Amino acid sequence: EEEFVVTPWEVRGRVDYDKLLKHFGARRLTPDEVALLEKYAGEVHPLIKRGFFYAHRDFDTILKWHGEGKPWALYTGRGPSGPVHIGHMVPWILLKWFSDKFNLEVYFQMTDDEKFYDDPEMKLDEATGWAYENALDVIALGFTPDKLHLIVDTKDIEPLYPIAVRVAKKLTWNTVKATFGFTDSTNIGLIFYPSLQIAVAFLPTELRGQPTPVLIPCAIDQDPYFRLARDIADSLGYPKPATIYSKFIMALTGESKMSASNPDSAIYTTDDEKTVKRKIMNAFTGGRPTAEEQRKYGGNPDICPVFHYHMLFDPDDASVEKIRQDCKSGAMLCGECKLKLYEKISRFLKDHRERREKARGRVDEYRISAKL
Ligand code: SF4
Repeated sequence: EEEFVVTPWEVRGRVDYDKLLKHFGARRLTPDEVALLEKYAGEVHPLIKRGFFYAHRDFDTILKWHGEGKPWALYTGRGPSGPVHIGHMVPWILLKWFSDKFNLEVYFQMTDDEKFYDDPEMKLDEATGWAYENALDVIALGFTPDKLHLIVDTKDIEPLYPIAVRVAKKLTWNTVKATFGFTDSTNIGLIFYPSLQIAVAFLPTELRGQPTPVLIPCAIDQDPYFRLARDIADSLGYPKPATIYSKFIMALTGESKMSASNPDSAIYTTDDEKTVKRKIMNAFTGGRPTAEEQRKYGGNPDICPVFHYHMLFDPDDASVEKIRQDCKSGAMLCGECKLKLYEKISRFLKDHRERREKARGRVDEYRISAKL
């Protein structure tokens, strides 16, 4: 069995999600915790019910905090280095759900600085441009400016910087080196950058002038940042951030995570219908080499990205279960299954594209600087 590697910048190999939790020290969501969520939200989002969001730090604590009527907020972010693919949208869909169910404000960080530091080819204005372009996809989920606060790092540093310098003073070179694997040739921008990602976790407390912990829905590879944030929160007088972690979105090519270097591994929100169809029809599957074998032995939905996307984008449990059964029994062949997925995704993208274009030109209204 090939060993896997997971850092905020790299995911390689077939990920063992339980081993990863043990390594990071986060916990699996328990049925009791999910039941508590259901009690407060009135339902459980399919992405949690189906185990895609599967682990956390202090999710139970923040729910109890909520139960005591105390304020909290949501925080997530995006490294703007190119167009958004539908996999990126998945945690944001959950973010919107939490915001609606619990009436929460969302702090959304666009880390154009980090993308500039990280990619030798990236120009700064290009990264900032992507931040604005990607913000359209976030706004398109239906956020209003009173609920969504965008932080473009190179534009909205003012509220963040005083927090970041206090965070930076608590973090030693030894700590960040060990946490992120920095080396002697890492540029000092990247070395300082974690202070900014951590600072947003404490921003709602500063702005409201009372303890306001955040819940951070994100992929499990972001854990190192928030582990550090939790370690230093107390000493800075802030509540510890809570997290809820997802697994990775499978690439259409079958790998554990999509890669920006292969545009066919992902469906971008800006892809046209023809491109979306071509990508889905060419996707890797868990099917058999011939139709005859598939009818006889069935396919394997567990390793199949097509099934994975049905699971992520179909809100109807019964419909997803039927696809699983029809795959395993051989009643459905991959061609038909892919067409069904294409219909679902193309419906989602059609609405999304319209809302996305409506948001164009309105990004600045959502920026936190416009509201301070
Ligand atoms: Fe994947 Fe669908 Fe083929 Fe099953 S039938 S292997 S879920 S594409």
